[in-house]
Amino acid sequence: MIKVKPYKFWFVTGSQPLYGPETILEVEENSKKIVASLNESNKLPNQIEFKQVATTAKEIHELALAANASEDCAGVITWMHTFSPAKSWIAGLKALQTPLLHFHTQFNRDIPWETIDMDFMNTNQAAHGDREYGFIGTRLGLGRKVIVGYWQDQSVLSQIASWMKTAIGVKEGTNIRVARFGDNMRNVAVTDGDKIEAQIKFGWTVDYYGIGDLVEEINQVKDEDLEKLYQEYEELYELPEEASQPGEIRDSILYQAKVELALKSFLSKGNYNAFTTNFEDLHGMKQLPGLAAQRLMAQGYGFAGEGDWRTAALTRLMKILADNKETSFMEDYTYHLEPGHERILGSHMLEVCPTISANKPKIIVEPLGIGDREDPARLVFDGKGGEAINVSLVEMGGRYRLIINEVRAEQPNKATPKLPVAKALWEPKPSLAEATTAWIYAGGAHHTVLSFKVTTEQLVDFAEMVDIECVVIDDDLNLRQFRNELKWNQAIFRK
Ligand code: MN
Repeated sequence: MIKVKPYKFWFVTGSQPLYGPETILEVEENSKKIVASLNESNKLPNQIEFKQVATTAKEIHELALAANASEDCAGVITWMHTFSPAKSWIAGLKALQTPLLHFHTQFNRDIPWETIDMDFMNTNQAAHGDREYGFIGTRLGLGRKVIVGYWQDQSVLSQIASWMKTAIGVKEGTNIRVARFGDNMRNVAVTDGDKIEAQIKFGWTVDYYGIGDLVEEINQVKDEDLEKLYQEYEELYELPEEASQPGEIRDSILYQAKVELALKSFLSKGNYNAFTTNFEDLHGMKQLPGLAAQRLMAQGYGFAGEGDWRTAALTRLMKILADNKETSFMEDYTYHLEPGHERILGSHMLEVCPTISANKPKIIVEPLGIGDREDPARLVFDGKGGEAINVSLVEMGGRYRLIINEVRAEQPNKATPKLPVAKALWEPKPSLAEATTAWIYAGGAHHTVLSFKVTTEQLVDFAEMVDIECVVIDDDLNLRQFRNELKWNQAIFRK
């Protein structure tokens, strides 16, 4: 997938001078052992670097400023080995602009019943030192993550790994750059919004280009590159029989290959990693990008249709969190309302990412009802089954609401011979009716991102890190409570 920088995380241990230099040295040795063990576990996506045992307000403040200034540091992990008076942390934590993990662990797993004495107690005080430190985080209203448990525990490692990816999503915000080919679809409300606010809040850059800029790039694609890409299609996908010889079908696929190469070249020149198209604005193009958009999504680009730049950026963000696995732009297409088997069929007119495919995708060339262009080639496949989340980010007038619905996806077992698009099928939790009621009250969009890899917890953490509202629709949904939550949140997040 398109690259994300190999970020590092800083580990800072809190202590105080009261116990003398020997204790500080022991605290440092223990911290280094923990960091080494975390790095050697092979369970974490990124390296952790031990920075220091911090004991004074000045040191902590300097560390926070250094973390802010560092291009490589995606987050700071803190742990209070001894009792560590938290007033020392106020200036530093107020200054810190990097995701913060409060790792509440303890160097020894078991209580050493036979040898435990006062010295041991002074040195190993996370049980109360981390509570003192936790208080100041809460008092300051910090959007931080708390993970509790022994540092060799597998579940602790997987929680840290998951938080790291989310922190990288926050840090990478300033590198999420969306190129919009054409504007938003005319008259559509939910996909419109404030691009400046998106940059202030998430760091996302959203730039407009006329479709003519892409057409110019398409005209420059070289035939030899086109042939090479076509061979790749033949290896990866099932192609229609007619494509084996020259003719309309082969030309249609070749045109999408051309668009893929042009889009990729255009985006990489401008450092963009997400884009939108709009079927209302295709001047000079023969087809709406279908296969081309799908192929770029498969390479890690964010995408959404109809100029929906916010969902395109969300797709890119979630692809970062998911290592580009099993994550796609999605749209609630239509319902199956058979009692007891209610399902949502998700798709888009063309552009679903093949990373969620359960089978080998087929390239199909068929007419498209809208857009008024030639029949576009697209990848057709069935979405896989499994636990997933469907996510929408909407704008509520100067502020954001992230809406997460946990769903149970299943591979569709029915063919749709007259609907030649890639599709996914899922059952929203707790039920289609309740989930959809909640979704509509929350103002959730029809455009979403479906992911089998990103977890609810990661997105809840993300929302907290960037300080936006986040609501979850899952098996614990209580509709009456949910409607109240929306009202309360409106009061809390109105800034
Ligand atoms: Mn759409």
